[in-house]
Amino acid sequence: MPQQTTAGTLYIVSTPIGNLEDITLRAIRILKEVTTIAAEDTRQTGKLLAHYQIKTPMTSYHDFNKEEKTPVFIHRLQEGASFALVSDAGTPTLSDPGYYLIKTALSMGIPVSPLPGPAAAIAALSVSGLPTDRFIFEGFLARKKGKRDKQLEALKDDPRTLIFYESPYRIVSLLEAIHTLYGPERHIVIARELTKVFEEIIRGTVLEVLQGLKEKKFRGEATILVEGHQPLKKTRKKMAEGERFR
Ligand code: SAM
Repeated sequence: MPQQTTAGTLYIVSTPIGNLEDITLRAIRILKEVTTIAAEDTRQTGKLLAHYQIKTPMTSYHDFNKEEKTPVFIHRLQEGASFALVSDAGTPTLSDPGYYLIKTALSMGIPVSPLPGPAAAIAALSVSGLPTDRFIFEGFLARKKGKRDKQLEALKDDPRTLIFYESPYRIVSLLEAIHTLYGPERHIVIARELTKVFEEIIRGTVLEVLQGLKEKKFRGEATILVEGHQPLKKTRKKMAEGERFR
């Protein structure tokens, strides 16, 4: 009679977004204990593993090989192997690969367990000074201007804090679109190079921030937060101006 095996666990492990010290003790232990680490970029994850003397074998897992690799991982998980999925930085699946693997694993009854930790969106929100009670994470907007502007237009009247990821090369263009579509008064925050040596948090109206950015070349990774629509703000401002001129 064939021996019954218990499926291994697929661990979804958050890793640092810059500072290598931002990793949990449990994440280090699980990365040491699993059979295999599935990494978005094995060279990038290799630096983290070397830092913590983790010798677990790695294999690559990204959007381009997910259809080929997923069945292989699932088969091994069903045989009892355990996997840790990591991305280059932060939490896997947040604008990073992983969704397809997790969905497939769940459909096969394989346990999926999170190891929470850094995510640029949450780190940026926590220091933004913008309301954190309700927010929307939009990840990367479309690259094409027309489609991106339509996405921005759809969010214009949303009262929740908006969070975007963006490439440093498109930040100024994104801010210009926000300025045009939302007006110059919207408060925004740019959280740049969080947890790294050149960490910088820029706060102000979109007009102020744009003026500051145009004077220098924008470098580094950044998360952009936009204050939600505040319908009463304009009315209050107009009332205050009215009072001043009375
Ligand atoms: N999975 C990651 C997470 O949990 O945050 C995000 C991966 S996504 C491919 C990369 C984007 O996240 C960058 O383009 C930038 O917008 C944001 N990001 C990553 N690291 C950052 C950092 N140290 N400071 C600010 N934003 C960062």
